Amino acid sequence: MAGIFLFNPPGPDNKGFTREGRCTQEAGVWATLWPPVTLATAASFLEKDGHTLIVTDFPALGLSLASLKDAVTKNRPDFAIWNTGTPTLISDIAIAETIKSVSPETITAVMGTHVSVLPAQALSGGSIDLVIRGEPELTIRKICSCSKKEFPDIPGISFRDKNGNIIHNPDSDFMGPETIPFPAWHHLDITPYKLPLKNRPFLIVAPLRGCPFPCSFCTAGIYYGKKLRKRPVNNVIEEILNNRIKYNVNDFFIWADTFTADSEYVKEFCSELLSRNIKTSWTCNSRVDTVDGEMLELMKKAGMWMISFGLESGSDEILRRSKKGIRASQSKTAVETAHGLGIRTSGHFIYGLPGETENSMIQTLDFALDLPLDIAQFYAASPFPGTSLYDEATSEGWLTENDSFSQSHAVMELPGLSAKRVDAFRQYSYRKFYLRITAIFRLLKIAGPSATTNILFNVKRFSGWIRDL
Ligand code: SF4
Repeated sequence: MAGIFLFNPPGPDNKGFTREGRCTQEAGVWATLWPPVTLATAASFLEKDGHTLIVTDFPALGLSLASLKDAVTKNRPDFAIWNTGTPTLISDIAIAETIKSVSPETITAVMGTHVSVLPAQALSGGSIDLVIRGEPELTIRKICSCSKKEFPDIPGISFRDKNGNIIHNPDSDFMGPETIPFPAWHHLDITPYKLPLKNRPFLIVAPLRGCPFPCSFCTAGIYYGKKLRKRPVNNVIEEILNNRIKYNVNDFFIWADTFTADSEYVKEFCSELLSRNIKTSWTCNSRVDTVDGEMLELMKKAGMWMISFGLESGSDEILRRSKKGIRASQSKTAVETAHGLGIRTSGHFIYGLPGETENSMIQTLDFALDLPLDIAQFYAASPFPGTSLYDEATSEGWLTENDSFSQSHAVMELPGLSAKRVDAFRQYSYRKFYLRITAIFRLLKIAGPSATTNILFNVKRFSGWIRDL
């Protein structure tokens, strides 16, 4: 049996970072850190196999690289396996050198969407032994079961052979949805994970994996594939009940690339909660073209208090070019319907997608201000490797940085629209959205004075106080 160290690494400058499949981002205005569901799910497999585990979310605990080094020095694990993301790629990869400097025999392995697409980049420094490509948990299980620490036949990994050549094994199969175990949260300190607005402890429950939609900017398919895989509803409900008893948590983020992608599944999930009289509180992400009034009403009855929509733009032309497959009028209907039912709504917008202009950014901001949204997030279009946006950005020569970029910082010089202007407009949008009486009133109603003050200070921290563009 092996000693295994699974972790979410400290971010550069000790900032909080989430690195969870398609979500690789700095804790922004909302300062939310997601419980690391991949680490906890992998831990579940490894625990069953009898390995000794240490699982640590360094950014969530505010722990630095020095703590990580201490942990490796003390425990000298057989395997060190960690999440990576495009925004933190350089520091994520450099962690391997720290580990090897104190425990050269430890096998170092990284996972995440960026390294899945560009594994050779991660392996080129010489301190990373393995790249785990795509959905990682089953591959982690196979790697950790190799007693001789030789991995030639394991699908889904890239590595250097004895001659230093980089070998890419064939892709791994995705897990059958019924075989996905409950995350073993007890290996983590879950106290730092608090719901934005409510400041209550929460956990992730992930009923679905995969997303069939072709959005040009999204990396969902790299991690979980394009085919929707649905865990049996009863099994998901058992996980919720188990979390309530074992971890004393009754707030959940129903985590999926698009939870509402299959309306029948959502209806079954909600009906089961209702028929078993399970009172729980949850939120989820969604697409505006996959919900209607009837479904939203059922979701609310079953405990959903907030829904997040990827609205992306107020311009139909930008939505068309980015293959989002929705129209702004559908966004309006969905947000207004949810709001009318008393469900809190969160809208996510992206500035700087191909075709963006000064006018279309203004159109998007006006659109956001007109909608009855409780929360808005304004991102910069980020051409993550593996997306069709990345292909377009590189072939058009728009990309100004190669590594470690994020949705918090524009990196594309579009024809007629600079990255600097996109960033300025994002910050302006935060100020315009949150420093309104209606927005502050909504926040006060949900979160109370103290949380609202914190949020407004975050807005200031990220975008400054009121000033014009
Ligand atoms: S709907 Fe689009 S943005 Fe949302 S997860 Fe699927 S591919 Fe990504």
